[in-house]
Amino acid sequence: MRLIFWVIALSIPTAFFGQDVPVYLPSSYDDSKEKEQVIQSIASQYVTDIQQFVKRKDRDIQEAYEKRKDDMVKRINNNAFIFDPVVTDYFQAIFDEIINANSELAALNPRLLIGRSPYPNAYCVGEGTLVFNLELLSRLDNEGQVAFVLAHELAHLKLDHANHSIRKNIELLNSKSVKKEIRQIAQQEYNQFQALSEFIRKKLFADRYHKREHESEADALGVKYLKNTKYHTDGALQCLLNLDKINEKDSITSIDLKQHFDLVAYPFKDKWLGKEDVFKFSDSDELIDWEKDSLKTHPDCILRKEKLEVMLADYPNTGKQLQFRDINQFELLQKRSEFEKVEAYFHFGSLGTALYYTLKMIEKYPDESYLHGMVGRIFYEVYLAQEIHQLSKTVPHASPDYEDAYNEILDFVHNLRLSEVGKMSFYYIQNAKEKYGNQEDIVWAEYLTASVKEDMDVVNSAKKNYKNLFPEGKYIKLLEELENSEE
Ligand SMILES: [Zn+2]
Repeated sequence: MRLIFWVIALSIPTAFFGQDVPVYLPSSYDDSKEKEQVIQSIASQYVTDIQQFVKRKDRDIQEAYEKRKDDMVKRINNNAFIFDPVVTDYFQAIFDEIINANSELAALNPRLLIGRSPYPNAYCVGEGTLVFNLELLSRLDNEGQVAFVLAHELAHLKLDHANHSIRKNIELLNSKSVKKEIRQIAQQEYNQFQALSEFIRKKLFADRYHKREHESEADALGVKYLKNTKYHTDGALQCLLNLDKINEKDSITSIDLKQHFDLVAYPFKDKWLGKEDVFKFSDSDELIDWEKDSLKTHPDCILRKEKLEVMLADYPNTGKQLQFRDINQFELLQKRSEFEKVEAYFHFGSLGTALYYTLKMIEKYPDESYLHGMVGRIFYEVYLAQEIHQLSKTVPHASPDYEDAYNEILDFVHNLRLSEVGKMSFYYIQNAKEKYGNQEDIVWAEYLTASVKEDMDVVNSAKKNYKNLFPEGKYIKLLEELENSEE
């Protein structure tokens, strides 16, 4: 059993919220050059970092560092990060401002990556990489708050918290008492892996006090860095206040499914809204832990804010501001993060969650053709999964663990018969096409939904249409792959 996995997974100080999800599949732009550069830089930093442990023959730490480096490389190759300068330049400028204003930071060679994960989170990996998930932007109000998050993560890096946790966790796992308990679990007849995971999780999470200490230290040093920049320190207080409410914003509200799916050519059937008789077992790993983390984060943010308030009481902030660039730019990136979230859930294969957010977004942006195309893309995948009786892997059954509004969506998808999925999604997209015409996402979804309805005329016309209109389009590679598999 490789325990190193846990050492890494639990050593990254998660600044604000939960864990990160590693894999997200591509946007269509080619960013292989940027990826290669970051991988090179991580690899060479790794060589420097492990020298002292090689000398000391400290195998465990070498292994942990190696695993961490390999994980990062894998995630970069799996498109877990966004390299589009439209997004990255904005954050990099704020990042550079903090580093240039604090000479001790440049020596750490810090690098910033923007994560595609749908979780509102930022964290310090410990080998020089800081990650800011784009989704976190949707919870913030201005540049100054972004600056505080980055300053806080830079403080974690400077204070070497992630590496400290690795060392501590390795010591713990090598201790006599823990080794003894692990041996006992290994002798268990059933559920060894589960028992071991649970045990290690408990052990390594037991030290909540220490984690809190790290957060306070990073807040204090982060604010010190922030003071040296052009940013107003109110950003720090506002940011913690916003993050305290992070879960409120996440609450699930009911969706009027009939309003979305009552089509002239294919009217809504009320029986689709019925509850499934019994709660069924799902074999999916739902990506979203709707509320699980709230209790952990909630009180901490307010306490952290109070501590900072005391520290900042007499600080004048003369000439400082929270916002330097056009606020429009910030809002555009926020909007983009909402769309990236839908796309991320879709690519993670979490179709129930993707459908929920897509429909929510349609209520907010009713004329974004991307979202209507996404409905078609989701039901195309639902069709394929149902066809091979694997639907509950990507759309779980309703469960008492979820909120009612989310269960309604899950029941709806599971109530649809295979042929109904085909027809409903087909007419949904035809309807969208009448409204929005030959938008890229609509034409693509038309091709997909026509293919499950086996309407070959529409399949062929949509295919031709897509190739003519979008020869460099974001789905062109996928189209060619599907075409080849048709033959
Ligand atoms: Zn932190």
